[in-house]
Amino acid sequence: MTDPRRATPRVDAVLADPRLVAAVERLGPALVRAAVAGALDEVRSGRLPPHAAADVAVAALPAAASGLRRVLNATGVIVHTNLGRSALSPAAVAAVCAAAGYTDVEFDLAAGVRAKRGAEVLGALRAAVPGAEAVHVVNNNAAALALTVFALAAGREVVVSRGELIEIGDGFRIPELLTAAGAKLREVGTTNRTHLSDYAAAIGPETALVMRLHPSNYRVSGFTAAPSLADLVTLDVPVVYDIGSGLLAPEPLLPDEPDAASALAAGAALVTASADKLLGGPQAGLILGRADLVTRLARHPLARALRVDKLTLAALEATVRGPLPPTTAALRTPVTTLRERARRLAAALSGQGVDVEVVDSGSTVGGGGAPGVVLPSVALSLPTVYAALLRAGEPPVVGRVSAGRCLLDLRTIAAHDDEDLLTATLAAAKQS
Ligand SMILES: *Cc1c(COP(=O)(O)O)cnc(C)c1O
Repeated sequence: MTDPRRATPRVDAVLADPRLVAAVERLGPALVRAAVAGALDEVRSGRLPPHAAADVAVAALPAAASGLRRVLNATGVIVHTNLGRSALSPAAVAAVCAAAGYTDVEFDLAAGVRAKRGAEVLGALRAAVPGAEAVHVVNNNAAALALTVFALAAGREVVVSRGELIEIGDGFRIPELLTAAGAKLREVGTTNRTHLSDYAAAIGPETALVMRLHPSNYRVSGFTAAPSLADLVTLDVPVVYDIGSGLLAPEPLLPDEPDAASALAAGAALVTASADKLLGGPQAGLILGRADLVTRLARHPLARALRVDKLTLAALEATVRGPLPPTTAALRTPVTTLRERARRLAAALSGQGVDVEVVDSGSTVGGGGAPGVVLPSVALSLPTVYAALLRAGEPPVVGRVSAGRCLLDLRTIAAHDDEDLLTATLAAAKQS
């Protein structure tokens, strides 16, 4: 018996394998070396013959230099924060790729001089929301709120209703963000009822602004009251409205969901919103409204710390100007279309002996808004074992488990991903 430690090939010798040389080009040296090191550990421990080290290292290579993986969202939750919220449209993806190298993000090619950063996307947003005198884009909606407080309310009072003191997810509480940014919160009213007179009584020389927050993930129902935005703006203090979801204009399917155009028309001084919720774009925060206020925000020193990169600007512009993003498509697809697709998939699966049924389902908008709204949908229903098998597949499919079945909701699967869903489910069936 030879000592396996002696027979272990040298790292450089294994790295000379042409497949690994090519992998270094694609993935960089660190990931390839890690795969080789893993294989050589196996050889040293005697579990692997030395000549197999390169094969095992090749098999262990990651598919890409980033560990983030594409997944199919079969949860039925359209804006799923854990799954990256919105999928970008092909036009937005192309814009990101085009902007990934050197780009004229801050350069006037005709004049050959520095230009205003992101002017194109600001123009696109102003065109989409004509009521907005000015627009500023930051890293996310939390940044939009923070910058609003830094620039307009640091050390002063922000009046907010007790019915709107919201926690979004993962412990993120908007009131804590506002105070961390330097505002003194002046809470008014009660959880279920707040009146215009409550706001009026709280307003004084210390008041910087009134904040209205869209309760994007819960609903207070029953004995409730809140002044309309049109009433609030009569108070002679700027009203900042965090609409959350990022709808630029009303969406007929979500009549209770606020939108930027209507909020500005009703007199809000500023509207803040996320770009990666119902707008269907990249992560970003939008601030739209009065030019004087937007200018103060944009010129604040901390604006630089919150600014977005060229990839975000590219994706956002293509989302606003370009074809309907997948988020909007998912929202609007008629249930009859989903049922046809489900039947076709189910027929292909049962043809291969899979225990599958087509069932009615309910989708939700998700953390992005429209609390309590259930959109009619259709799902493939499979035995529960599929849930884990599908998550482990390629691409991973994330469904939801309900009443002892694994449901794959088609509302959040783009039609062009049906073939991938079918392939992944058939692969899972082989292992079930
Ligand atoms: C989602 C949400 C936020 C946080 O937005 P991010 O873009 O995730 O920072 C703030 N306010 C409301 C009302 C929201 O719905």
